[in-house]
Amino acid sequence: MDQSSAPKPIRCRAAVCRAGGEPLRIEEVVVAPPKAYEVRIKIICTSLCHSDVTIWSIKNPAGFPKIFGHEAVGAVESVGEHVEEVSVGDTVLSCFLAHCGDCVDCRSVRSNVCTGVPLGLADGVMPRDGTSRFTDASGAPVQHFLNVSSFSEYTVVDVTRVVKVAAAMPPEKACLLSCGVSTGVGAAWKVAAVEPKSTVAVFGLGSVGLAVAEGARLQGAGRIIGVDLNPDKFEIGKTFGVTDFVNPKDIGDRSISEVIKEMTGGGADYCFECIGLASLMSDAFQSCRPGWGKTVILGVEMQFSPVSINSVEILQGKTIMGSLFGGIKAKTDIPILMNRYLNKELHLDEFITHEVGFHDINKAFELMMAGKSLRCIIWMDR
Ligand code: NAD
Ligand code: ZN
Repeated sequence: MDQSSAPKPIRCRAAVCRAGGEPLRIEEVVVAPPKAYEVRIKIICTSLCHSDVTIWSIKNPAGFPKIFGHEAVGAVESVGEHVEEVSVGDTVLSCFLAHCGDCVDCRSVRSNVCTGVPLGLADGVMPRDGTSRFTDASGAPVQHFLNVSSFSEYTVVDVTRVVKVAAAMPPEKACLLSCGVSTGVGAAWKVAAVEPKSTVAVFGLGSVGLAVAEGARLQGAGRIIGVDLNPDKFEIGKTFGVTDFVNPKDIGDRSISEVIKEMTGGGADYCFECIGLASLMSDAFQSCRPGWGKTVILGVEMQFSPVSINSVEILQGKTIMGSLFGGIKAKTDIPILMNRYLNKELHLDEFITHEVGFHDINKAFELMMAGKSLRCIIWMDR
């Protein structure tokens, strides 16, 4: 590439978090050009996932300043060397989990956790060279988040973490497939492979839990029990196939597992934890059926507490497993989900409960923490 056409640093606005739990501030940042195997993206829209909120709330000074956001759609603005899969002008969505296609995990049907370009969860830098592409007005580096950092007008993402968006796909709908909704649908479809007519219990009816219900509905589940403290979630849950609702506040001194065992004649075939609390992970495991009951953990534990389970229940044939991104292999599975949406099989529209302009980004945090939103779309140009 000759020097005159080489991408230059871009000065733009980003919502920077300076300290854990503090509101984001719109600041001017400089976004460096993409290096080899990297793509610089002009973000069109982005949305807030509970994983942003969980890490944002940790008061660890070493983790900041940081640019959050990992559910996003944008246009490719420039590409680094060796990027052939996408070109300038392509619409892409971002993924926090890579899909390099070459490593032992990508080549196996048993894993979606790419070890070719691994996830740098806590380090806040690009995965290949360990440096940041963001600097603030004083020239100091700003950390990335989940290898995406979409709360910025421009960001740089590894090519293993972008998926082309079909032209017919509205950007705000594609944005949902970036993380939470794909995670939930994938958990029912790929991780648990829910069988027709089976019983499913979903703990936590946020976007991830409702997407599990949606995935279970598409798999033909017979009964889908939603567990949530927020009674408003049942009505919206019906759209995604939830047939029964258990509010832990309304069951007196009985445990959630007692109630679910009674409802299902011994325990649900599949339980999914989509909250991020160790106690609910134990409840989910206790609520699944001896013999073949399977529990899938999707929640990111908010206090990093260990999970306690009774080994006798494991001896009874129950299994428990976790999943990042619901077993989704980004480059091959997300196009399938986009097609299912465009064929009117997969519900996506109902996950969008709010939309705000970029300057109102803190409202997305407030809505999620108040339990009022599923996904709040943040439009960069509004
Ligand atoms: P959300 O905040 O929208 O939903 C959480 C739901 O849990 C809410 O409806 C809330 O009312 C309910 N809830 C909270 N405490 C409860 C309790 N004690 N009992 C019953 N219900 C309770 O969050 P989300 O965006 O849907 O994310 C859910 C979880 O999934 C988070 O932990 C998030 O970090 C995690 N996540 C994991 C992956 C992954 O790859 N495994 C991907 C995305 C999100
Ligand atoms: Zn997420």
